[in-house]
Amino acid sequence: MVKETGFYDILGVKPNASPDELKRAYRKLALKYHPDKNPTEGEKFKQISQAYEVLSDAKKRDIYDRGGEKAIKEGGPGGGGGGNFASPMDIFDLFFGGGSRMHRERKGKNIVHQISVTLEDLYNGATRKLSVQKNAICERCEGRGSRKGAAQMCMTCHGTGMQVRVHQLLPGMVQQVSTVCHSCQGQGQRISQKDRCKACGGRKILRQKKILEVHIDKGMRDGQKIMFHGEGDQEPGLEPGDIIIVLDQQEHPRFIRRGEDLTMSMELQLVEALCGFQKPVLTLDNRTLLVTSRPGELIKPGDTKCVCNEGMPMHRRPFEKGRLIIHFSVVFPKANFLPKNKLKELERYLPVKVDAEQPESMDDDLYIYADLEDCDLENRKRHRHQHYYMDEDDYASTGGVQCQTS
Ligand SMILES: [Zn+2]
Ligand SMILES: [Zn+2]
Repeated sequence: MVKETGFYDILGVKPNASPDELKRAYRKLALKYHPDKNPTEGEKFKQISQAYEVLSDAKKRDIYDRGGEKAIKEGGPGGGGGGNFASPMDIFDLFFGGGSRMHRERKGKNIVHQISVTLEDLYNGATRKLSVQKNAICERCEGRGSRKGAAQMCMTCHGTGMQVRVHQLLPGMVQQVSTVCHSCQGQGQRISQKDRCKACGGRKILRQKKILEVHIDKGMRDGQKIMFHGEGDQEPGLEPGDIIIVLDQQEHPRFIRRGEDLTMSMELQLVEALCGFQKPVLTLDNRTLLVTSRPGELIKPGDTKCVCNEGMPMHRRPFEKGRLIIHFSVVFPKANFLPKNKLKELERYLPVKVDAEQPESMDDDLYIYADLEDCDLENRKRHRHQHYYMDEDDYASTGGVQCQTS
């Protein structure tokens, strides 16, 4: 016959219950009274966990059966003394595989860092050393914060780390507010001053400086993430977080990247556009390309040409490269760059004029001379507003450019 049945009663089983029956009973009750589901039942949850802790251990169960709760608290033969119950959360975690803290993250925090890179870095690849501050589990106490076994369950929150306050708003109407336990800062346990780990002061974690070597591969992109799995913040009982490095590409003075292609603009003098040219372009790995248009080829203003295999290297296939795309603009000579008598000479070399209807006789009655003037595009907008009923095509065909002089 057992001395007392209190622990059996808490779990709702008979004193002759098998280990399996105890397990089933505990499982059902622990889920029902878990503080995440039932914040006001912290005391009940604690009792269930303590009862199960004792009865699930054959040695402790034997002590309890013979001497009752008192014998357990005093620490029976071989009981290790002290009568410290494990935290109910720890028993729960042991039983349910650590998934109990539904409201907390199961992983330490990720640390996200942005690093500034040049287009040259992304073209050639680069290595950066980065100093990162992170939380690391204290090695001296292995994250316990104290000597082994010196931690005691926080009596304020019964080891849940959460405190529930009940406010009576009106008679019969109460409001529950859950907050992190102030006594233990949500740790669920307390460590007396003298038992605290000297290295971490009982905090279990230390700030640690870590030097990371970040390898930027050829062909990586702006905004690309480089992951360091498990290098983020550590927290006792949690999987460590990750460190995530985000590449931030600075603007380049010559090139703009579009996917695997590089684009640039090149300004040509009229004579170069017409007669050919060779122009040096410094590449991202400091070679000099001599961009060549042979005499006889012709570049028109707004033309786009490309040089194959001089774009960005492909990520993970760095020997394949995109294109270098060049947008051309052509600078015309200034007005009156040639004396008027030479213009006739120049005209001889240029293709003939195509306006077939040359006036045969300059009859002032038939023709109105229209001089060109510089026009102001701002005025064009205003003009268009006045003719809001016209759509764009109508507008263009009526030649609605307004002169600056108006
Ligand atoms: Zn420590
Ligand atoms: Zn507490």
